[in-house]
Amino acid sequence: MPRALITGITGQDGLYLSELLLAKGYEVYGLIRGQNNPKFDLVGKTVPGVHLIAGDLTDLSSLLRALQVAQPDEIYNLGAISFVAYSWEQAALTSDVTAKGVLNILEAVRLYAGDDLSTVRFYQASSSEMFGKVQQVPQNEGTLLWPRSPYGVAKVFGHYMTINYRESYGMHASSGILFNHESPRRGPEFVTRKVSMGVAAIKAGRQDTLTMGNLEARRDWGFAGDYVDAMWRMLQQPNGDDYVVSTGETHSIRELLDAAFAVVGIDDWEPYVEQDPRFFRPAEVDLLTGDSTKAREVLDWKPTVGFADLVTMMVESDVRALAAQGG
Ligand code: GDP
Repeated sequence: MPRALITGITGQDGLYLSELLLAKGYEVYGLIRGQNNPKFDLVGKTVPGVHLIAGDLTDLSSLLRALQVAQPDEIYNLGAISFVAYSWEQAALTSDVTAKGVLNILEAVRLYAGDDLSTVRFYQASSSEMFGKVQQVPQNEGTLLWPRSPYGVAKVFGHYMTINYRESYGMHASSGILFNHESPRRGPEFVTRKVSMGVAAIKAGRQDTLTMGNLEARRDWGFAGDYVDAMWRMLQQPNGDDYVVSTGETHSIRELLDAAFAVVGIDDWEPYVEQDPRFFRPAEVDLLTGDSTKAREVLDWKPTVGFADLVTMMVESDVRALAAQGG
């Protein structure tokens, strides 16, 4: 039975990846941070087969211990401080976790595996936020990186450090440059989920308006369940490599609002939406659209859920959740 260790187990991707690996017969271990982590129960309820190990990406000794307990064949580093807007407020913490945390786990894997690095395979969750002020449209694995936030800068460090461990030590290390990926499990701070929850609450008469930031930004949004499958496929290749994972379609926040309000039968959303400078960012990523040709050809991967279906899935899920709470 193959064994996997996942950092970031409590997040959207950690849960989807756990489900995928458990279904494939893996023994799955998840690293969980902090004393009395409030998401401990969520993991137990959602993916009851997963074994949790206490540890923190900023603590190298805890990572070594986790590796010794889990004895993984595959390590998926999904743990990060991942909300872009927050990364300006806590830039140093974001760097410690999202950047240096990658070095810590790579180093822990190297020390753990000793002379036999070929026995472990490593996945780093890199991000389309690394493209930032895009230098090419669409973006592929060779596009110059130009991050626009402390989060993006931290992810660039993790990306290059992963490549460096591959080149320096021959580690089977892959970097998945994943474009925005969403689901009903997405955190409410991200724009898709903020909109799906807001639309459901407006429809139920629980909320009058939705307060937003920049409506002109464009993103390439896919379904998280599809994207964790790409992660797994990367680690089944004979060698580590870097792959863009994206749909290739781009939509603005306005189009997201169009699609989400349409699900509940509201065609004109202007009366329900306000804008507040609080939600604008010091530097914006205006346009993301990925070229995932390499992942499609080498990994035989493709997305199964398009933009309209993704938005419908998320709004309907939030409508059902509110109904279950009694409207
Ligand atoms: P990101 O691409 O990782 O930053 O994902 P987000 O979902 O947080 O943001 C996507 C885009 O939506 C960014 O360009 C934001 O500026 C824009 N946006 C507009 N209004 C909001 C808002 O109220 N909340 C968030 N999170 N993003 C917003």
